[in-house]
Amino acid sequence: MNNNLIPKIIAVSKTFIMNEIIPLIDYGHTDFGENKVQEAIDKWSKIKTTNKDIKLHMIGKLQTNKVKQAVSLFDYIHSVDSIKLAEKICKEQKKINKSIKLFIQINLGNEDQKNGIEIENFADLYLKCKNDLKLDVIGIMCIPPVKKDSSIFFQEMKKIAEKFSIEEISMGMSSDYLKAIEYNSTFVRIGSKIFGERS
Ligand SMILES: *Cc1c(COP(=O)(O)O)cnc(C)c1O
Repeated sequence: MNNNLIPKIIAVSKTFIMNEIIPLIDYGHTDFGENKVQEAIDKWSKIKTTNKDIKLHMIGKLQTNKVKQAVSLFDYIHSVDSIKLAEKICKEQKKINKSIKLFIQINLGNEDQKNGIEIENFADLYLKCKNDLKLDVIGIMCIPPVKKDSSIFFQEMKKIAEKFSIEEISMGMSSDYLKAIEYNSTFVRIGSKIFGERS
């Protein structure tokens, strides 16, 4: 394990109300994750205008019809998984002169969910985003299947990051973040271990 890599913690606040989140903000935590655009707008729009240190991470599936709102609110989007979505982000952020930090979500043979680009199409999407659209793609993201050992997926992500000289890897949740860190995760996304179980 490379001890120089200290991962950033994204506190995944989805489903929790502001009163439950505020103690963490007061404590000085800055990075929060949400998976639904409308919920994020309702919860974060106001506080983000008064607290400029807060960084919001979109970690859920992003529909193209929500991109405009997402681009105006979020600082990071972890779920870029198609050229169509990338193009829309590009167009909307140009309009408001903003540059979102992006992760490409990779589907490493995960049958539980269809989100993420298939591994065989990753290079094409990554290069188009970087070279053609000039997007600020800083990393890759994955959500391993719930029932399987995450290690093989994390190892695969580490290999891809090395191959493409990608700096950031968004992986690791409450149940497997320690393992993710062993494979050089740079952003862990922790919900229930911070806020408690979601109902
Ligand atoms: C909910 C969620 C998390 C956090 O899950 P926990 O198991 O509560 O830590 C992380 N990443 C994504 C994409 C999520 O939707």
